[in-house]
Order: sequence, then C-alpha cells, then structure tokens
Amino acid sequence: MNKQEVSQCPCCQSEERFFENLVRELKEKKLLPEHIIHFDFQVREGIPLPPQSVAIQPAGTKLPFFKTAWDICCKCGCMYSVLVSLGEVAKTVEVVKLVLPNTQQRISKD
Ligand SMILES: [Zn+2]
Repeated sequence: MNKQEVSQCPCCQSEERFFENLVRELKEKKLLPEHIIHFDFQVREGIPLPPQSVAIQPAGTKLPFFKTAWDICCKCGCMYSVLVSLGEVAKTVEVVKLVLPNTQQRISKD
C-alpha cells in the first residue's frame, strides 16, 4: 500500500482544515462515531478499471485499489487532497441478489 497523508495546505502551510474541524466538533458533541475520519462525500475510492475488465478476472485476482480524500484550508480556502492511497484488493466472489416477483418494495410518495 502506497499511502500519503498531507498535513499542511500546499498554498499557505496552514494545518487548519474545514471538514476536519467539523468532524472533531461533531465527535465532541457525540453526534458522530469516533471511527469517522472524513465525511463520505470527501472520499473517492474504488478499482480504477472498467467493470468489464474486472468481470473477466477470476476470484482471488489482485486488483489495484485507490482512495483519496479532500478538505478545505480554513486560512486560504484552497481545496486539496489530504489523503492519496494506492494498494491492492483481491477480487471476491460476487453475491447475486435475487429479486422475486411481487416482492419489490413499494415507494411511498408521502
Ligand atoms: Zn491554505
């Protein structure tokens, strides 16, 4: 796993980050679980391959896996990556979800 965490804003070197501060405040108020580091919308992660390429690989094949996260500098407003990570993940056997007739959830419009 090749992982790089950025601790300072690349523009002004401030270490104050908007969402990082917000997560800390919400944890202190017990509104977020302790294991949360970033909000979901800050994180992009996945296998950087077309689904067709992944589909033809046998289970157990090592595939590249990336994860990035961004935040906003509190001092200058610069948006920058606070985490860049590249590793591998083994392909697992896919579980096919069966949908039986007449069992679809009805969507309420209330
Ligand atoms: Zn900055």
